Amino acid sequence: MQNTDFPGNLYVVAAPSGAGKSSLVRALMEVDSGVRASISHTTRAPRGQEVDGREYHFVDTERFAQMAADGQFLEWAQVHGNRYGTSRQAVIDRLAKGEDALLEIDYQGALQVKQIFPQAVLVFVMPPSWEELRARLERRGEDSTDTIEQRLLNARTELAQAKSFDYVIINELFERALFDLKTIVHAQRLKYASQRRAKADTFAALHITDPE
Ligand code: 5GP
Repeated sequence: MQNTDFPGNLYVVAAPSGAGKSSLVRALMEVDSGVRASISHTTRAPRGQEVDGREYHFVDTERFAQMAADGQFLEWAQVHGNRYGTSRQAVIDRLAKGEDALLEIDYQGALQVKQIFPQAVLVFVMPPSWEELRARLERRGEDSTDTIEQRLLNARTELAQAKSFDYVIINELFERALFDLKTIVHAQRLKYASQRRAKADTFAALHITDPE
């Protein structure tokens, strides 16, 4: 098994579509420059204002399959009919530099990452109720009625996987949910092993010499 003991922390955030995951992650990164979201590869077409290399690296199915065959993905999964994958090298480069990385991916990918990085912190974002999830999907105005029904159906499978995650955030009030996410990120950084790696000078000054 490869060594995954990198100095940076790895956070993985998953949620059913409409639970508010993307807004939470965006807001976290606005207030915390120490954590950066990895940019995934996908076979789906760009939507609206999306720019290649910013929201995603948009690739065709052949290129995606080649990258998967070459082992370039830390994880990949089929989600809502398209393929999505996380670049292994980009994540490892960041963690190796002692910087924190965040993956905003689906539950299948999250569970794959936990197999490879047992120390990854898995966060599941839930809506407060089915009524609210439906209302949010409808308010977004992005999807047809059929798509919304499909997303609600998929959400049943997704919510059943929450039990495999380390933390659950119920996104009822945005500010509260953001506070919860910031708290998880902060608590992880305060763990002994994280402090030992991030504050090596302080530990040395205090003559704490146990290995990292
Ligand atoms: P969307 O197409 O709406 O941007 O994303 C659809 C779903 O795919 C979301 O749940 C999103 O988090 C997930 N996703 C995005 N990138 C990745 C990835 O690299 N791997 C996996 N497994 N899921 C991803």
